[in-house]
Amino acid sequence: MPKKGLLIVISGFSGVGKGTIVKELLKRYPEEFRLSISATSRKPREGEEEGKHYFFVSRERFREMIDAGALLEYAEYNQNYYGTPKEYVISEAENGHNVILEIEVQGGLNIKKLFPDSLLLYVVPPSAKELYERLVGRGTESLSEIHRRLKRAVEEADYVPQYDELIVNDDLEVCVQEVYELIRRRQEEAGEQHAMIARLKNELLEITKEKPE
Ligand code: 5GP
Repeated sequence: MPKKGLLIVISGFSGVGKGTIVKELLKRYPEEFRLSISATSRKPREGEEEGKHYFFVSRERFREMIDAGALLEYAEYNQNYYGTPKEYVISEAENGHNVILEIEVQGGLNIKKLFPDSLLLYVVPPSAKELYERLVGRGTESLSEIHRRLKRAVEEADYVPQYDELIVNDDLEVCVQEVYELIRRRQEEAGEQHAMIARLKNELLEITKEKPE
C-alpha cells in the first residue's frame, strides 16, 4: 500500500507569523510538503497573487463551490469566506505528500473531524503586546481591521486546547525546527502503529485460521 501523506493544519492568531513558518518549511523540504491554496471572497492585498496566495472569488462563486461540494471545509472570517479546495488536498495526500493547510480554528477542527489522523498545530506569540506591534508593523491592515482581528483572536483562544500542539513563535528558527520535529514524530508514530496493527492482524488471522475442535 502506498504511504499516504499527513494533513497538517497550521493555525494561529492573525500576524503571529504562520505564513513565514509555512514558507520556510516549503523552502527547506520541497519534496515533503505541499501547500493547500485556499479560495476566499476577500479582496487581494497588495502583492498577493491569484493561485499563489489564494484563489480570489466572488461571494457568489464561493457559494457555488460550497454547493458543488468542492470544498473540504470553509468558514467565515471577518465577513469573508475562506475554504479549502478538496481535490488538490486529497490527490496530493494520496500521492504521499504532506499537505499543509494554513487555516483558522473552525476549519482546523472540521478537518480533524473528517481526518482524525491529521496534525493540528497552533502558533501563538510570546505576548499580546508583541502581536499588536507585529500587526501594526506589517502595515497591511488598517487599525480598525487590526482591532477586529485581535477581537477574533480572543474568540479563537477558547478553541486552542482542542489542537494537538501549541507552538510559541518567539524565534523563527527555533519555531520552524520545532514544527518540523513534531511532524516527523507524528509520522514515525503513525508508521509504527501501522506496522504493529498489520503484524497483530496477521497473527490473529493465523490463530483463527482453523476452527477449534
Ligand atoms: P487572511 O485574510 O489574513 O489571509 O486570513 C484570515 C484567516 O483565514 C487566517 O486565520 C487564515 O489562516 C484563515 N484561512 C485562510 N484560508 C482558509 C481556509 O481555506 N479555510 C479556513 N477555515 N480558514 C482559512
